[in-house]
Parts: sequence; structure tokens; C-alpha cells
Amino acid sequence: MQKEYAILKKCGLSITTSRKAILDVFLQSSEALSHADIERSTAPAFDRVTVYRTLQTFVEYGIIHQIPTTDNSVLYALCKDECAVGHHQDEHIHFICILCKKTSCLEHVEIPKVNLPKGFEPVQTAMVIKGICLHCTD
Ligand SMILES: [Zn+2]
Ligand SMILES: [Zn+2]
Ligand SMILES: [Zn+2]
Repeated sequence: MQKEYAILKKCGLSITTSRKAILDVFLQSSEALSHADIERSTAPAFDRVTVYRTLQTFVEYGIIHQIPTTDNSVLYALCKDECAVGHHQDEHIHFICILCKKTSCLEHVEIPKVNLPKGFEPVQTAMVIKGICLHCTD
């Protein structure tokens, strides 16, 4: 329980049952989660709107980051300490396993710098790699 309190306190967010419970789901998970996953894990305690608002707040405060997927759905994963309100530093590679379908944050693998043509200014770069994860290789 203590970790949830510490994270919410650091962000200056008030501690509510929904924030605590949803944060707990992320802390217990080693993979990225969808809105539906969170809803399932916390049902029937919170409705869709509460889950949606809580996720938005967490993204805004640098607690979780969004991960783009190939089917246009959005996944969320916990941020590391460098993220803050309105300032994310999650330019690491995301890996989707084609066997177990789990998405992982590869926090220590940075996205290589891409040289864009003159006049193009990058704001955010995302990279997703598909393959077979550590747990599925043997
Ligand atoms: Zn972040
Ligand atoms: Zn796998
Ligand atoms: Zn990530």
C-alpha cells in the first residue's frame, strides 16, 4: 500500500479509493495494460468514467504513459522516476510479443536518434517492436 501513497503524494494528488486501486493494478503488473484490463481488475468497484478519468490524471501527472499499438488501441504502463507533471521521458522501446500478446516497456533501450529532413522538428518519437518475448523463447 505504501508505494501508492508515496506516488500520489509526490504528485500532490489527493488519495482516493479509485486512484489507489488503479495504481495498485499497475504496480502489480509487469506488462502494459489497456483500459479494459483495468476495468476488469477493479470491477465492479469503479465505472468506465472513473477509470477513464483516473487514467487521464495519471498520464497528466507523469505516473503512467501511453503506448501506441498497431490496432489503434491504447495501452498504459507505469513511468519511471524521471517523469513529472506535463513532462514525460518515456522514449524507450516497447515490445509486443506475437505469442503471448503482452506489451513490455524496454526502459533501458532508447529509441535511436532519427535524422529528419531539414524543416522537420520532432516532438515525440515512439517505437514498437514485435517479436517473441523472454518468457516465450523457450
Ligand atoms: Zn512518463
Ligand atoms: Zn511472450
Ligand atoms: Zn513504456
